[in-house]
Order: sequence, then C-alpha cells, then structure tokens
Amino acid sequence: MLHSNLSVNEKGHLTLCHADTVALAKKYGTPLYLLDETRVREKCRTYNRAMKQYFSETARPLYASKALSFKGIYRLAKEEHMAVDVVSPGELYIALAAGMPPEDIYFHGNAKTVADIRYAMDAGIGYFVADNMVELDRISAYAKEKQMTQKVLLRITPGIDPHTFDAVNTGKVDSKFGSAIATGQAEEIFRYASSLDHIQLCGFHCHIGSQIFDEKPFCDAADLMLTFMVSLRDKYGYVAETLNLGGGIGVRYTEQDPYIDIEDTLRLVGTHLHKICDETGYPMPQILMEPGRSLVADAGVTLYEVQNVKTITGYKSYAAIDGGMTDNPRYALYQSKYTALLANRANEEADFSCTVAGRCCESGDLIGENMLLPKPAVGDILAILVTGAYNYAMASNYNCLTKLPIVMIADGIDTLAVRRETYADMTACQL
Ligand SMILES: *Cc1c(COP(=O)(O)O)cnc(C)c1O
Repeated sequence: MLHSNLSVNEKGHLTLCHADTVALAKKYGTPLYLLDETRVREKCRTYNRAMKQYFSETARPLYASKALSFKGIYRLAKEEHMAVDVVSPGELYIALAAGMPPEDIYFHGNAKTVADIRYAMDAGIGYFVADNMVELDRISAYAKEKQMTQKVLLRITPGIDPHTFDAVNTGKVDSKFGSAIATGQAEEIFRYASSLDHIQLCGFHCHIGSQIFDEKPFCDAADLMLTFMVSLRDKYGYVAETLNLGGGIGVRYTEQDPYIDIEDTLRLVGTHLHKICDETGYPMPQILMEPGRSLVADAGVTLYEVQNVKTITGYKSYAAIDGGMTDNPRYALYQSKYTALLANRANEEADFSCTVAGRCCESGDLIGENMLLPKPAVGDILAILVTGAYNYAMASNYNCLTKLPIVMIADGIDTLAVRRETYADMTACQL
C-alpha cells in the first residue's frame, strides 16, 4: 500500500487507520472525506520533536492551515502544541472559534485589507507575516491607535526555484509574494519596517514552494536568508530573533512519487543551519517551519460510489462517480495525479484502465485519467487516496453540489467532524 495507514482486511475491504472504509461509506453515505487523526498527530509530533532536536529548543512548527481548515483540525493542532498560520480572516475566525490561542497564530497574505488587519489585531494575533510596505503602514497605524506594539516577520523571496510545478512555486524573484533579496527590495523593506513606530520586527520569512522531496532547496533557502541576515547585522547591527523557512515538504500521491523522510530532512537542514551559524558567528535564530500538505495529505481518503461505467469502443473507458471537481479540483486545476482503488474489492487485480469522471456538467471534471482499477461496477466504492490536503479546503458548490462531511478516525474509532452540507446551508445567504 502507498502509505502505512492503509491496509486491506479479511473481507477484502480497504482500511484506513484500522477502520473499514466500506462500512464507513455505508454509515455516513458517499461522497465522504475520511481523515486519519492518528496519522496527523504522529506527523505533528515528528515535526515538533525533530525541529527541537536538530534546530534548537525554541524551534516551532506552524500548521499551514490553508491545506485543511476546520474547527477540529485547529483543536488537534492546539493539543499537539502546534502554532498555526492563517491566510485570511476566515481561517483566523475558525482557528479562534476552535480555541486556538491568538498569540500562536501567524497571519500571511499579500493583500491584507485594513479590515483584515484590524480584525486580527483586535483578536490579539501573535504575528503578521508582512508582505509589503502598505501592509506595514496599516499595521503601524492601527497599533498606534491601540497604543500597542505589533510583532511582525517580513516575507522575503530568496530567489529559489525548487523545480516544482510553476503554479505552486512562490520563492522565485518574480513572485506576487514578498520582497526579493536580489533586487535590493528586501533590504529596503527591512529599513522601512525598522523605521516604523509600534512595530516589533522579529525576523524574516520565506516559502520557496511545494512538493519538495529533498533537503537541498531548504538548505539553499537557509543559505540565502542567513547571508541576507548577516549583511543586515554587519550594516545595521540588527540581529533577527526568528527565521521562518516556510512549508513545502512533499507527499507521495502515487507509487511513482519519491518517498521523503521528514525527520531525516529536518536533521540535514539542521546540520546545515548550525554550520552556517558557526561560520558566520550569527546566533542560531528561532527556526519556524510551516508544513501544510505533509501534515494532513496522506491522512485523507475520499470515498465515492460508482454511478456508471462506459467504454467507448476504440477509445477508452469512464467510471462516473457521485463527486468530482467540487470536492477535489486538483486534477482539473493542475493535472495532479492520484491513486484510485475499489475499496470494496481492494484485493482484486487492477487491470482495467479508466478515466474517473466527476458528476459536474464540465468535460474537465475528472479525478484522473488512465487510472488502473479492477473493472468497476455500478455501486462499487471508489477510494481516492491522499486527499487530506487541498481538497476540502478547495471545495466549491459548483453546480450547486453540497460539500462533503469529514469523518475523523482515531485508532480505528470514527467521529463525524464536519457534517454534510444541506441545501438549506447552501442557500442560507440567498435572500
Ligand atoms: C501554502 C503555504 C505553506 C504550506 O505549504 P505545503 O506545501 O502545504 O507544506 C506554508 N507557508 C506558506 C506561506 C504557504 O503559502
């Protein structure tokens, strides 16, 4: 199996975290998201332990909650001593509603409005990861009004191409995010932030991309960021407390994807950081990282029921399901590859190539093409693996389809964490 939390039981049914997925499909209905809570907790513990061991005692993982945002996951993050980052007032609202301490929340985004900033500061948010000078002005002005000092990190683009898919590649010089070191704009925004009252500049942030499968891009980013920080120390006497290296550790979606050991990657990045700090005499900053995908993706499985199977003679076969791009738009958006299997016939040979098609009136509504399955039949339960990240978070009501529930599984016990959206929920804002 693709990941160790997946198995097949004596009935030939797919299990996730020891729970029979076919029984769960019957109990909760399809389409349905499952989330292996035990798995997410293990990942949080790995990040927490390894970052403290290999970076320093002050190091901290933040859960990049845009990957999967609902109350239950923030409660879990809090229990696992994670800080979180949010990218919108909506995510902040859910985090606060779930009881996340505001001082443990970091607010990202390249276009924060005055209302966003006021809302976050009124809630007592810990940090802004400030993107630009307009945002700094807005934070400074409102902090002055409130007679307080607001902590900020500055978002810097170190100029790294981690050789990943362009649409999720954010650390290059040409980016809508942050200020580039190479153009001098990073130094400029540092000087600007330092000149503003009511702002406490705690350090710097970078996020170089996503689906990164080795330590090299993180070491390169650390090199560029620390070189920049050393130059500020030498020129201005400023020593940063914190360096946030962003998220982006990759996840295996198919057998063709590489495997990455999170602990080992953090160990190698840590060794590299200590080496640069020793060489430059820079005190080891508090290191933050922001894993999103690698915390939740392989904890997720989506279950669908097969509604129709057709073969176009001389062309190909389609299996149509009761969900699609509204619950998982990633194939339609990025041609992201997934692994499919029949949850109720998980031991049978997968020798039938077909395109898995969603139910939307849109030819591009596909979950994958040329997916290998046992020949599906109407009523089979089709499982798409590794859907914990950027599925529920990216779900829409296109075609007025309602959003799916999330069932969390801890040590084989299932609990409904998000109920299925109703038509009344969907029309609640319509006057
Ligand atoms: C998306 C994002 C992350 C998380 O990236 P993953 O690839 O899901 O780990 C972290 N930080 C920032 C600023 C992001 O935009």
